[in-house]
Amino acid sequence: MKAVRLEATGKLQLREVEKPAPGPGELLVRVEACGICGTDRHIFHGEFPSKSPVTLGHEFAGIVEAVGAGVTDFRPGMRVTGDPNIACGGCEECRRGRVNLCRNLQAIGIHCDGGFADYVSMPQSQAFALPGDLDPLHGAFCEPLACCIHGVDLGGLQAGSSAIVLGGGVIGLLTIQLARLAGATRVVLVTRSAEKRRLAESLGATATAAPGDGDIIARITGEDGLLPGGADVVFECAGVDETMQQAPRLARRGGTAVILGVMAQGAMIEIEPFDLLFREVRLTGSFVNPFTHGRAADLIASGRIKVEPLISRRIGLSEAPEAIINPARDGEIRVLVVPDGK
Ligand code: NAP
Ligand code: ZN
Repeated sequence: MKAVRLEATGKLQLREVEKPAPGPGELLVRVEACGICGTDRHIFHGEFPSKSPVTLGHEFAGIVEAVGAGVTDFRPGMRVTGDPNIACGGCEECRRGRVNLCRNLQAIGIHCDGGFADYVSMPQSQAFALPGDLDPLHGAFCEPLACCIHGVDLGGLQAGSSAIVLGGGVIGLLTIQLARLAGATRVVLVTRSAEKRRLAESLGATATAAPGDGDIIARITGEDGLLPGGADVVFECAGVDETMQQAPRLARRGGTAVILGVMAQGAMIEIEPFDLLFREVRLTGSFVNPFTHGRAADLIASGRIKVEPLISRRIGLSEAPEAIINPARDGEIRVLVVPDGK
């Protein structure tokens, strides 16, 4: 079969490799689609730890081709999505239920072979069923959606809450939809691209703003602003200094800012502790998808989260290395690798 192999940092190529055989408790899955995420680019450049040689791709879904000994919950022909993050179950964090903070966390497509390939194998404990009549490409959105669900959970969004989302990429556009589903009545997106702002409005944002023109804090939280006093929950989904600094300032008194965006290890930003204290703003990180992948699969299956408009391009395996090596094209939201396609 064909697979996109990271041979070493900076060396990525499509290669013929042996088709995996499902071991005990494992599923062999024929990949229908696998999303290219910023993390894949960071791994290629050596900015995110991985274990090469390895097949990349951690946002995958497909059809069960074969099952290993002892697999009881899945059979060939079923459509599944894989939660790539495998916790050890035994470390102190795992034993406290904080599985995303596992000290030995391993991810499919990062530390072991992933979904930019014709087939991927995974433990059945990482798989979640999807309906047979689902669009075969939509399952690839379960992984990013599961990360956003964790962020929304941490934000404590309630019916009638207000929210601000900073950054209109896939994470921001999924978070907007989750915020509306959770009952937020007002959801403001800040992002530079006018096209993404328009798309966000069609997906549930009640207002949008460009970060560039004037003081964005005043334009949103000021007396005549889009959300006077700020939002109950702010979601940072851009991963840049500017939005990291804005996030707590855009939260209302007693509000929460959730950091989903990733900045380089060692990068620093300035915050005003007095402001956090005096306005009792809660600031929290949100890391991956603890126990949320099943909910993401159910949401995708239900069609309540719109993912079709987030697909910018679909490409075959042969085009994948180039798409990962280069930065995302202007305005691109999600590129899906479709092994069978094209
Ligand atoms: P993305 O496609 O790069 O989206 C980020 C968006 O931020 C861009 O579309 C950009 O859109 C916008 N942006 C850039 N500068 C901005 C600014 N100054 N103000 C407002 N918006 C700005 O990335 P993504 O896939 O959506 O992921 C977003 C972040 O979440 C990344 O850092 C990613 O690594 C991280 N992530 C975290 C988790 C987790 O578990 N916490 C999971 C997956 C991804 P415009 O051109 O419109 O400005
Ligand atoms: Zn652990």
